[in-house]
Amino acid sequence: MINKRIWMMSAAVSLALAGAAVAQDTVKPDVMKHVEAGRALAGKNSPVGLILCNGALPASKKDKLPNVAELQARGGVAGQPPEPAKVFDNLYYLGIRHVSAWAVDTPDGIILFDTLDNHTEAADAIEGGLRKLGLDPARIKYIVVTHGHGDHYGGAKYLADKYKAHVLMSAADWKYMADRFATDKPHPGWDGPPAHDMVVTDGQKLTLGGETITLYVTPGHTPGTISSLIPVTDHGARHLVAQWGGTGFNFPHSQENFKIYADSAARFSDIVQAAGADVPLSNHPETDSAIVKNDLLKTRGNGPNPYVLGKDATVRFMKAFSECAQAQEMTY
Ligand SMILES: [Zn+2]
Repeated sequence: MINKRIWMMSAAVSLALAGAAVAQDTVKPDVMKHVEAGRALAGKNSPVGLILCNGALPASKKDKLPNVAELQARGGVAGQPPEPAKVFDNLYYLGIRHVSAWAVDTPDGIILFDTLDNHTEAADAIEGGLRKLGLDPARIKYIVVTHGHGDHYGGAKYLADKYKAHVLMSAADWKYMADRFATDKPHPGWDGPPAHDMVVTDGQKLTLGGETITLYVTPGHTPGTISSLIPVTDHGARHLVAQWGGTGFNFPHSQENFKIYADSAARFSDIVQAAGADVPLSNHPETDSAIVKNDLLKTRGNGPNPYVLGKDATVRFMKAFSECAQAQEMTY
């Protein structure tokens, strides 16, 4: 369905194309329309949504926003790995500064979303984090890898082998991950891919211990990125998390690839709206401000959970990604 060669274009070519697209200071009205829409939708809740829109603009018109490193450093203690956190009754944050792992606890075991860069991080932040939070990592039953980049799959082989857990990815990203690993110089901080295991199809339900998560294939960031709806409870009250599985536009830049991303984000926005999700989530802490929110959780007492932004804000969070991708699509 997706031309493989488009995805295999070198980063140098994609950078050159991105540069060409914003070389002049004039901005096409169609581009600006989507940038303004993206900015309005993202608001203050999704700074990276705004940074993504910046890619469609010349330097003079970009939003002046904290850079990603500053966003990553917010919250917690700068220079130290963030602490693991219990975010909902059944959802736990186990991430590091630049990438997140999330654990859904059920009576019959744990469903893990993503595994960080390598076995060392998985041991420290995921196994260590679970233990600190009173959970046994041996209860990990399923590992959903949101997409085939090593900062999400790097610890999967270690955890899957150790705990006999199943690894789930989309068919497209099982292939993408293997192809990339075979042809690209692997990132030195990433462990190799996990062995091929379960294949996620669009709309697939994953049930464990009476909890049912719904997985959607939302291509764009990679050919088969997975985004999810995850039911949670907060002090017993039900909420629905919508996790967007691929934030950055770090794919080969082309009109077709931006359209694929934009269409997926628009479709997932509709899914989120229909389902009534009220908690926007990411797999990178600078995208959903997870580390900042984890700090707020410590002092919330009986106050509101900072992750619960409401149904409207959750749809807006997702739509912002589509608008920023459309803005870039229109630069061609
Ligand atoms: Zn990625």
